[in-house]
Amino acid sequence: MRAFRLWKPHWTLARTLASAAKPKKTDIFIVGGGPAGLTLAAAIKTSPYLSTLTTTLVDAGDLKGKTAQFYHEPPEKFTNRVISLTSQSRKFLEDRVGVELMQDRLQAFDGLYVSDGCSDAGMEMERDSMGHMIEILNIQSSLLHRLSQLKASNLNLVDQTKVVNIEHKDPKDPQSWLLVTLSNGDVFETRLLVGCDGFNSPVRKFSKIESRGWFYNRFGVVATMKLDFLPFKTRGWQRFLPTGPIAHLPLPGDNATLVWSTTEPLSRLLVSIDPEQLALLVNAAFVLEDVDMQYYYKQLEQGTITTQELELDINHRTDLIYGKLGNESLIDEIYPPLVSSIDGTSRGRFPLKLSHADSYVADRIALVGDAAHTTHPLAGQGLNMGQGDVESLVKALESASKRGLDLGSLLTLEPYWADRYPYNNMLLGVVDKLHKLYSTDFGPVVAVRSMGLKALQALGPIKDFMMARVSGPSQ
Ligand SMILES: Cc1cc2nc3c(=O)[nH]c(=O)nc-3n(C[C@H](O)[C@H](O)[C@H](O)COP(=O)(O)OP(=O)(O)OC[C@H]3O[C@@H](n4cnc5c(N)ncnc54)[C@H](O)[C@@H]3O)c2cc1C
Repeated sequence: MRAFRLWKPHWTLARTLASAAKPKKTDIFIVGGGPAGLTLAAAIKTSPYLSTLTTTLVDAGDLKGKTAQFYHEPPEKFTNRVISLTSQSRKFLEDRVGVELMQDRLQAFDGLYVSDGCSDAGMEMERDSMGHMIEILNIQSSLLHRLSQLKASNLNLVDQTKVVNIEHKDPKDPQSWLLVTLSNGDVFETRLLVGCDGFNSPVRKFSKIESRGWFYNRFGVVATMKLDFLPFKTRGWQRFLPTGPIAHLPLPGDNATLVWSTTEPLSRLLVSIDPEQLALLVNAAFVLEDVDMQYYYKQLEQGTITTQELELDINHRTDLIYGKLGNESLIDEIYPPLVSSIDGTSRGRFPLKLSHADSYVADRIALVGDAAHTTHPLAGQGLNMGQGDVESLVKALESASKRGLDLGSLLTLEPYWADRYPYNNMLLGVVDKLHKLYSTDFGPVVAVRSMGLKALQALGPIKDFMMARVSGPSQ
């Protein structure tokens, strides 16, 4: 296996530094302090079988400053990277790892109302604490707080530093320990290197593990929203538009978060228009037909409609639809609470992709979280899959430790990948098929999927099975 390098100038520098610095020994080296990496570090330090292992975590971001501060001095407004945490992931974080999440910044929700933007089909999934909407910064900063509480002298947290080179100590022996060089010149020698380093994973590239997948040619537009009134039911709302699903998900009080997956040009429009116009479009997107929405997008693109005209037109068309319902109380059952405003500065857009590594393990290497797999956010599974990976990897390491095995050996690591790969592969496949099934307004497909939603609504046990996949086992 050849050495991995990020780019040439660093490589030359890294080789010079590597030859100069004396490697520091660490049992486990984690690259990445996102939710997966920090959870892994905290799970190791709270494990009766692993806590004595020296562990190093390196991240390019400002973990000790900005991220840690979030816990102690949280901003008033909600940040825009909000995810749905399953009960199972929450249980692992709180009960097993001992994390105290910031309770006043997370919102449990008791169901999801899913509808089809091309037909009148809808499905209500109800379950107490089906999931928990939470900012990623809440998870990361709570984990950092937990790590600081543990005061583990054998944990080395290095931030604002990049991994610039990885190589085997003995280039001819793929089972030899790994040498990891950092941008600050430090070199570590480790028996196990864990890549929690996201979609572009340098660790995965070094390992030569293939990752397959594709970009969806879609972007997820996120934003923090204020509601007109406190929600009547604390549930999430998702509508499948032909351009991609729009999700309106609850945050504490009269706050909510938006994840609008859509085409590249439309995502650009949504982050560039007046926030007031975006709020109007969100309200419209859950009620009106796609042809109406396409009309608004075009007018906004061309700048031929004012905010006031947009509001009047949307109100007129939505009132017509509400009128057809015949029963006013149904409005709150099938449409989300109205958005009154959107914080323009909270808007962001992210490219959506599917990727899956062929394996999660190689000699001395394990991949975890987005480094191993990425998925469309329509089922809210990406981060949760990473939490499941951590749980499984820690189990494999504990079992190896009890048996006195080498932690970086394939014998230790393979049970982890055997446990996680099939489950993750199934989820990635289901989410991908859902994306494809709903990304069309072709009549026969719409008819079939509408029948599917209506059938699922009527078939309790199958619906329960699907909910269990999405929310994890109930507490
Ligand atoms: C719009 C959107 C909505 C989503 N909604 C949900 C949801 O509802 N539920 C859900 O479960 N998931 C959701 N996800 C997915 C979720 O956000 C990701 O799966 C999760 O954040 C990945 O965490 P991670 O720790 O694996 O990777 P990351 O968060 O990508 O962390 C990787 C870390 O590695 C570090 N790093 C990388 N290279 C280096 C290097 N060379 N040296 C040092 N450090 C390095 C980076 O600084 C980074 O901190 C959503 C995603 C999107 C885009």
